[in-house]
Amino acid sequence: MAYRWPAGTAFKRITLDVEDCWCPVCDRYMYVCDHRYHHLWTLEGPTQVVNRLVRCPDASCASRGRTFSPEAELSLSMPRWCIGWDVFCWLGHRRFARHWSVPQLRLELKDTHQIRVADDAIARDIGLYPTMLAARQQDPERLAAAYKEIEALVLTIDGLQPEKGHETLYVVRELTSKRVWFAEPLLSSAEQEVHRVVVLARQWAERLAKPVRAWMSDKQDAFVKAIATEFPGIPHRYCQNHFLRDVAKPVLDIDSQAKVTMRSKVRGLRAIERRVLDERRQAVASASPPPPAPPQGAATSTAALPASVTPATVAPPEPGASSAWGLLQTDNALEATSWATTEAAAVEVAAGEVVLGYWAAVRGILNDSQGGPLHPPGLRMSEALQEVRDSLDRNLGAHKGGLPRRC
Ligand SMILES: [Zn+2]
Repeated sequence: MAYRWPAGTAFKRITLDVEDCWCPVCDRYMYVCDHRYHHLWTLEGPTQVVNRLVRCPDASCASRGRTFSPEAELSLSMPRWCIGWDVFCWLGHRRFARHWSVPQLRLELKDTHQIRVADDAIARDIGLYPTMLAARQQDPERLAAAYKEIEALVLTIDGLQPEKGHETLYVVRELTSKRVWFAEPLLSSAEQEVHRVVVLARQWAERLAKPVRAWMSDKQDAFVKAIATEFPGIPHRYCQNHFLRDVAKPVLDIDSQAKVTMRSKVRGLRAIERRVLDERRQAVASASPPPPAPPQGAATSTAALPASVTPATVAPPEPGASSAWGLLQTDNALEATSWATTEAAAVEVAAGEVVLGYWAAVRGILNDSQGGPLHPPGLRMSEALQEVRDSLDRNLGAHKGGLPRRC
């Protein structure tokens, strides 16, 4: 990738040589014929990699014209990349394990490592990261090492949708070492497509030279048929979650109906929220600051203050005008009648706060769709709503007759 280095950048130089200098065809000693320079960022700063290229000296050799370059270059970076593997892994780890944003990555690289890379370059690198990671995960040598101690394999297959509307990824996992083997996007769950994935799983198992003890899945027809064909005689079981879900289906159906009923009942509360917000809007509108006064004395400084400070301190408010500022006004020495008005307004504002707070909690409960067969979503919702009801009862009991306080 083209990268413009600032003039005067000081590079750390690394010179690389071909490991085997003897011509693979005629066995003659090969000479350096050219240099290839690769400039890149590593966590140690700007780096210049000098690749010493070699060629067979014999003009009649079959390798003639072919240039050999140092193998070690790929252990530092990929050709034409402007960052080394160390920076690449730094980016990928922070992105996928810690969910950093691109600007955050760019700033941290600049501040901590003095590495300057543009947002689009970072976006491209984190796009490549999963591919590199998958290649490493699936590397046959590493895989063989991971399975050295394991006697037999237990495989699962399941279709996952990373996001709604996306094509389904068919994921094959091995449970003994808790490892995702591979994921294939299939356009349909048709038998032929699924069969291809199961064949791939068989090839993996064969490459590891380990027997398969069992398969687990939700037992879709396509899975059952493909696995029976490719793994004859191997037991195929329901996965625990799907099994429980199937057993619990009648209960989950009732739970789902109960959830709909609760939801429609609670949704009525939205009207109360709207009323509180409307009242606030009106209060703010009627308490908006007076037009700027001509510059004289104390009025000058207050006219310039933000709206939230003006009404109470500049002049006594018109009766019933400024409920939103009631809390600010109670400290002022105002007339008795005015005090009564603001006291009532303060109660109203505090009450509005409480209503909005409770509504936020209820909205969270309505939007929660977590829960499985052992703790169904409707049951969770009912429990959470009961907690809200208990809280309301407690507060009503504690503050009967008193002035509501924000707590
Ligand atoms: Zn040669």
